[in-house]
Amino acid sequence: MTIQSGRNFLHTPGPTNIPDRVLRAMVRPAVDLNDADFMAMALSCFGDLQKVFETESNVYIYSANGHGAWEAALVNVLSAGDCVLVPETGHFSFNWSVMAESLGLEVDYVETDWRRAIDPDMIAQRLRADSGHRIKAVLMVHTDTATSVTSSIPAIRKALNDTGHPALLLVDTIAALATVPFKFDEWGIDVAVAASQKGLMQPPGLAFNAVSQKALQMSEKATLPRNYWDWRRRHGREFYSHFCGTAPVHQLFALREALDMVHEEGMEAIIARHQSLAGAVRSAVEVWCEGGALSFNVTAAEERANSVTTILVDEAYNATALRETCSSRFNVSLGAGYGRLQGRAFRIGHMGYLNEPMILGAIASVETCLAVCGIPHGAGGTQAAIASLSESGS
Ligand SMILES: *Cc1c(COP(=O)(O)O)cnc(C)c1O
Repeated sequence: MTIQSGRNFLHTPGPTNIPDRVLRAMVRPAVDLNDADFMAMALSCFGDLQKVFETESNVYIYSANGHGAWEAALVNVLSAGDCVLVPETGHFSFNWSVMAESLGLEVDYVETDWRRAIDPDMIAQRLRADSGHRIKAVLMVHTDTATSVTSSIPAIRKALNDTGHPALLLVDTIAALATVPFKFDEWGIDVAVAASQKGLMQPPGLAFNAVSQKALQMSEKATLPRNYWDWRRRHGREFYSHFCGTAPVHQLFALREALDMVHEEGMEAIIARHQSLAGAVRSAVEVWCEGGALSFNVTAAEERANSVTTILVDEAYNATALRETCSSRFNVSLGAGYGRLQGRAFRIGHMGYLNEPMILGAIASVETCLAVCGIPHGAGGTQAAIASLSESGS
């Protein structure tokens, strides 16, 4: 085993860095589930999650990862044979569609080249063509972590409104929440899907649904089998029912602490920090691309995510070796190319509990490893990141 001193720089797009405060909040004994202080603490998380989603509607907390929240969103509002429209954004839209199909839903999957945000005109076209309203839901991934493309939720909502189509809007914001604005009520979202381990700075293991009144009504008629995921089972007067069993005690202590941190920093400041750090990464990548071997996966600058950047590597060079060199020599963990981009890209995660020196450290390390691996790149990416940070006044 190689000894690596110093801290690991975790720049995978989930899980992300867990603040010491959040870690410490979990280092305690289990509690009596009927303990009044514990119950009050747990219940307070629901209200504070509503603030994170910007909704006054219901929020549900599952002991699960993001896949659990995906499944919960589907089984609560849909019935066997229902059609869902899934615009492709990358490997996560694909995986969600595969799950939908496996649950007995019919999937209208709209393929793309993985390099652009969802085209609202294309969505409107599909909805208009569906005059019989067979499509019951549109499943969109806000930021697809494989491609690092961010799509506009209001634009898709507008496509639904303009066509007068009644389909629900289901949004996977797992890798976008708390890195870009998210306004559940204002944007007319029906179900939001999120998880603890990305922008929300917690360990993996909690998953969330925010649910509109319209989706709640649909859930009364939906017939896909569900039990643990069933929103209706989680409304009981008994505290026990909120978690459909034993509450995930320690995960909830972590959630409470993370929500306190979100509240202290403020969502606006959190988003501004992500914008600034992502800007630094993008400035560096832009310079590296001048060497001809690297390119942004997302072609339009305004569609690039604040949470992760996917960088394509010309096939003459070894993207895997670059990532392994970063890990073994510099203790910097990068994301690999995922799905169709396996072996052809690397990803720099920049979401969650991060600050400028962490980002500068990661960028400088990647730049060094590009040199070590003989991958041509424009010189001065780190300098460009410094300039970007000094300009953004952060
Ligand atoms: C991470 C991620 C998921 C899957 O979450 P898990 O916790 O790994 O199940 C789904 N969608 C997006 C956009 C993600 O980034």
